[in-house]
Amino acid sequence: MKQKIIIMAIIMTVANMGCCDKESKTVIDNETTSRVTKQLVEKHGEQNRVRIEKGIKQMASLWETEDGDVSAFESFCLDNFIGDAAEREQIFKRLCLQFETIYGGFNKMNVSLMEPIHVVDYTPFPIDEMFGSWNPSAHFEDDFFAGKIAFFVMLNFPFYTLDEKNELGQQWSSLEWGYARMGDLFTSRVPANISQKMTEAETVADNYIANYNIYMGKLVDDNQKTLFPEDMKLITHWGLRDELKSQYAGADGLIRQKLIYEVMKRIVDQSIPQEVIDKNDVTWNPYKNEIYKDGEKVSHTAEPFTRYEHLLSVFKAMKAADKYTPMYPSAISRKFDQEFELAQAEVEKLFITLLESEQVKQVGELISKRLGRKLEAFDIWYDGFKTRSSIDPQLLDSLTEKKYPNRESFVSDLPHILVTLGFPQEKAVSICNQVRVDASRGAGHAWEARMKEDKARLRTRIGDNGVDYKGYNIGVHEFGHNVEQTITLHDVPNYMLAGVPNTAFTEALAFVFQKKDLELLGIHSPDTNSKYLTTLDIFWGCYEIMGVSLVDVQVWKWMYENPNATKEQLKNKTIEIAKEIWNKYYYPVFGTKDEPILAVYSHMIASPLYLSAYPLGHLIEFQLESHYEGKNIGQETMKIFSNGRLTPQQWMKKGLNTTLSVDPLLHSVSTALTVIRD
Ligand SMILES: [Zn+2]
Repeated sequence: MKQKIIIMAIIMTVANMGCCDKESKTVIDNETTSRVTKQLVEKHGEQNRVRIEKGIKQMASLWETEDGDVSAFESFCLDNFIGDAAEREQIFKRLCLQFETIYGGFNKMNVSLMEPIHVVDYTPFPIDEMFGSWNPSAHFEDDFFAGKIAFFVMLNFPFYTLDEKNELGQQWSSLEWGYARMGDLFTSRVPANISQKMTEAETVADNYIANYNIYMGKLVDDNQKTLFPEDMKLITHWGLRDELKSQYAGADGLIRQKLIYEVMKRIVDQSIPQEVIDKNDVTWNPYKNEIYKDGEKVSHTAEPFTRYEHLLSVFKAMKAADKYTPMYPSAISRKFDQEFELAQAEVEKLFITLLESEQVKQVGELISKRLGRKLEAFDIWYDGFKTRSSIDPQLLDSLTEKKYPNRESFVSDLPHILVTLGFPQEKAVSICNQVRVDASRGAGHAWEARMKEDKARLRTRIGDNGVDYKGYNIGVHEFGHNVEQTITLHDVPNYMLAGVPNTAFTEALAFVFQKKDLELLGIHSPDTNSKYLTTLDIFWGCYEIMGVSLVDVQVWKWMYENPNATKEQLKNKTIEIAKEIWNKYYYPVFGTKDEPILAVYSHMIASPLYLSAYPLGHLIEFQLESHYEGKNIGQETMKIFSNGRLTPQQWMKKGLNTTLSVDPLLHSVSTALTVIRD
C-alpha cells in the first residue's frame, strides 16, 4: 500500500510538471473549483449542481493567465452563472440569434468572396485567388476567449461527451439538445504555433505523396520486357490502384496487376530504390528489385523509411495539441468522438461484423468464378461489378438540353422536381425560394447558407446549348444537398441543431435524388441487374477499406503507446499490423497469408485517421438509401431531416427507428447473390 502511495505521488508530480510547462497557464486548482462550485450551488440550488460542476471544470481546463487570476475566475463564475431556467432559455435564444449572425455572416462572406472563382459570370483575375484564400473567421476563437463570451457559453451551456449525448440525449428535449450543441462550441484552445505545426507536418507529408510517382514505362519483368506505355506516370497509391483496377477489363491484365502489386509491396516495406521514385532515368524490375541503366545492372539505395518518417512527424505534431483539447485528449478521440461522433470501439465492432460475415466469403467465391481463377491479394480492388448505362449519351444530352436550354428553365423546373418526388406544392416552392442556381466554372457543388436570410447555392455546368446530361445529373445531386441544407436550417427546432450529423447524411440524400434523374426525365431504366451489381460493388469496396481503416487506427494506437518509436520501428510495426489484419479477415477468403497490401494507402501518411470516414459514409448512405425504398421521398425527407444535428446514432434512432448497422447491406448482398450467380 505504501509503495502504491509513493508511486501515485510520483505520477502526480510528473502530471503537475506536465501541466506547468505551458507558461501562460494559470492553474485553477481543485480547491478553487470546489469553492466556486459550492458557492454557486448555495446560491442557485441543488437542481443546478450538475451543470455548475461541468461548467466550472470545463472553464478551469481552458482558463489562461491572460484571462485573469484566480479571483477573476471566481468572480466571473459568480457574476455570470444563470440559475433560472426561463432566463437561461431566453439567453440561449439570444445566443442563437447572435451565432447565426456570426456563422451566417462568415459563410456569406466566403461565398461572395469566392464567387468569381466558382461562377462563370466573372472575368477571372489573379486577385480573385488572393481573396479566396483569406479566411474571415480565422481569429474568431481567439476573440471569443479574449472577450470571455467563450467562458460565458461554457459556464451556462456546458459540454457533454459523446457517451453522455448518446445516453442522456435519448431523454432530451430539442431545447436540451440545443443547449448541449452550444456546449460543443468552445472545447479547445490550441495555440497558433501548435496548429501551424500540424498544418506544416500535413503539408510536408502531402507534398511527399503528391510527388511520389512511378514511371510505369520503366518497369520491366524478368525478361526485361515493359508492360506499360512509355509515358505512363502514376502516383502512389491512387494512380497505381486505379490502373490495377482498369486492368480487369483487359484479357491479359493479370501480369500487369501482378507487377503493380510488386511495386506496392516495395513501397510499403521501403525496399523501393530511391532512383525510381519520381525519376525515369533507370529501368526497374520490382520482382528482383534490380535497376538497370542502358541494359546494365547498377547499384541502388533503398528509400530510407521516409514514408514512415512523415507519418511519425504528423503524429508528433497532432499529439502536441492533446493538452489543449481537454475534452478530446487524443487525435483518435478528436477524429472519432468529436468529428465522426461515433466511438472508435463502436466503429471497429461495426467493421468487424462485416469483415467476418458469411457474405464476404460468398462474394469472394463469386469474384473468383467471374475471374476464372483463384483470388489474388489485389483482388480487394476487383472492379467487375460496375454497371454502365445502356442509354445513348447523345440522346440524353439532347433531351436535357432541350428541356433546359438555359439557367432560367432549369430554375423554374426545380419545384416540379420536388413535387414529383413527393413534396407538397407549397413546400416545394418555399424550398426553391431558398436556393440560388449559378452556372459553375468547375464540375459543380452545393454550398449551404448558414443564416435564414441567405440562400443555398446550386452550382452546375450550364453550357451555351443549355444543361447537358452530365450537368443535369450533377445538378440533381447538388439539389438534393440544397434541399437538405434548407430543411436543416429553416425547419429544425433551434439554430444550434442546424445541419446533419456528418457529411454522409447529406450525401445519402443527394444520391437518392441523383438516382431519380432518369425517372425525372421520364425514362425508366430497363437494367434490373444494375441495382444488385451496385450493391455488390459497394459491399466489396467496404470489405476492402474497412480492413485498411483498422490498420490505420491500430497504427495510431501503437504510436500513442510508443511515442518515441523510430521510423524503422514504425515501418516494421505497420507491416506487422497489416499482415495480422489480413490473416484474420482476408486470408479465409483469399487463401494467401501475410499480405501487406492493406498498408499501401497514401491517406495513412498524409490524411491522419481519415480512412474510416469512407466505409462509415458508405454504411450510412446505404442504410439511409434503403430506408427511402418504397417511401415518399418528400414526406420522409421533411420528417427525418428536420430533427436536426443530433449525434449519428440518435439521429438514426429518432428518424429511422434504428441504429447504424451493417445489416441492411448484408441483407441486400444476400439478395443480390440470389440474382447475380456468375
Ligand atoms: Zn455530394
